[in-house]
Amino acid sequence: MIRHRRPEKPADFESRVADAKEAIRRIVEVEGRNPTSKEFDDHWKHFKDHFDNAQSGKCFFCEGLVTATQDGDVEHFFPKAGITTLGPWHDTGKGSKTKKLSERGYWWLAYEWSNYSLACQKCNQRNKGNHFPTDPEIGEEGPSIDDNRARLLLNAFDDAVEESLSFNQSGFAIPMDDRGRMTISVCGLNRSALVSSRFKQLRLVKGKLDQLIQALADNNAARIKEVAGDLEIIGADDWPFAGQTRALVSSRLQISWDDLKELAAD
Ligand SMILES: [Zn+2]
Repeated sequence: MIRHRRPEKPADFESRVADAKEAIRRIVEVEGRNPTSKEFDDHWKHFKDHFDNAQSGKCFFCEGLVTATQDGDVEHFFPKAGITTLGPWHDTGKGSKTKKLSERGYWWLAYEWSNYSLACQKCNQRNKGNHFPTDPEIGEEGPSIDDNRARLLLNAFDDAVEESLSFNQSGFAIPMDDRGRMTISVCGLNRSALVSSRFKQLRLVKGKLDQLIQALADNNAARIKEVAGDLEIIGADDWPFAGQTRALVSSRLQISWDDLKELAAD
């Protein structure tokens, strides 16, 4: 997971979603019931390209390449219809056994631009689904518009995710606080296929780090610039699992990602 810049809201977004937004508001405020997921008209798919571009085609949560091989989902960060919690098998990567907490979701955020991202189907459909961990946990009555519970899920547009979530030298995501821990569990970020993919990339990163450490010891300016430049590519925004590369640079060299980029630019 790395931080991304949220794309600008397109000029036609509000007009395109206005009727659907009003229909949902009427169900809740006039009919006095919770809308089902099927009652939310899907207008967000028309805007997938905006998130594809902003996230370089990578999943918001796992950083795997999405749109190169699949359609990908426009994900609602705050679930729109109902809230569930994790069951006991959530780290298997086979999807979660879930328990329903509330029939009511964050319905008023269903057509908010700030609630969307591009996610892979494994993270979104098989794992996150309608999970939305908060402290304290959401009760049967569901969330309210003026809710002030602390959210325990990392948002790659809004949070300094590298402070909450890191990676070890075996390809596993490692939590650094409660939000990191819950994000790993809820999105299945240590599912075996993902760890295996990250592990393959690690060999390349570790080799480059060894070369850079040697070049620094030799005070070889040209070599430092060359190898730091290679690492900058493997940890760039558009490279899969860039968060892992950046975490390893930080832990092995005790420098920030910006410091690494300066070494590559010198
Ligand atoms: Zn994913």
